[in-house]
Amino acid sequence: MHFELEHLDSYDDSSLLDELRRVASLVHTQKLTRTQFTGLAKVHSSTLEKRFGSWKGALEAAGLGNRFDDASFGKDREDLLQMIKGTAEKLQKSVLTLQEFEAHSGITGAPVRRVFGSWKAALIAAELGQSSLGKRYTDEDCFENLLVLWTHYGRPPKHNEMNHAPSAVGSKAYVLRWGTWRKALAAFVQRIESDPAPPESPPSPLEQQANGNPVLPDLGSRDIPLSLRYYVLRRDSFRCVACGASPAITAGIVLHIDHIHPWARGGPTVADNLRTLCLSCNLGKGVSPA
Ligand SMILES: [Zn+2]
Repeated sequence: MHFELEHLDSYDDSSLLDELRRVASLVHTQKLTRTQFTGLAKVHSSTLEKRFGSWKGALEAAGLGNRFDDASFGKDREDLLQMIKGTAEKLQKSVLTLQEFEAHSGITGAPVRRVFGSWKAALIAAELGQSSLGKRYTDEDCFENLLVLWTHYGRPPKHNEMNHAPSAVGSKAYVLRWGTWRKALAAFVQRIESDPAPPESPPSPLEQQANGNPVLPDLGSRDIPLSLRYYVLRRDSFRCVACGASPAITAGIVLHIDHIHPWARGGPTVADNLRTLCLSCNLGKGVSPA
């Protein structure tokens, strides 16, 4: 077999990007890692990282931003929380937007959504976004936290369970707001049911227009509305649909909602394109049943 020359004719930006695109076309996995690249390229990935600031920057410059594997950060909950808190501190902000976090941390929202379900839930867990006078949670904060617990136990959480991990909002906040724990649960269910049944396919733009104000404004976005997340989790019995893992049975299992056909490649945020997966199955490390 004839081996190609192990160096490039030129090392200017466009030659490096051409090489990146050439190697990318040889690698048939969705993501292109530094190791895959270096194994096939005539130049080491570190050269591109230096030139373009980071591996992510190099992929983006080559128009291959969608092949950056942010999962390879392997950021678990604690790491992400530290990064969120650190970014807020650096910017001296008590309320941090996802855009600010992405811009300053170099991490996309994808791993945050995988671990916490939503940016909002991540902020609550990081104890950001509350007034400095005290923790002031909105109704939505309380509902987001309740869904985390409901998912964790696979059933409505009990009053005292709200005071233990993974809960980020204590039971007191619920009782202060709704009077009793039972009423807080009822408010959650009412909130879920106040959204229309999740459509099986996205309404046409015309339909949306006819309705005036679509009740699920995030339908076309990657973010999955609270009620739709609940609907999918319950439909899937609060278990990973690939391996059956359940946080209620096995400690440490984290469930999240996955776009079956990836959102970045046109998969809509609708119930029939969403499924419940555990973290390891979603990262492709899970063992699927034969
Ligand atoms: Zn799984």
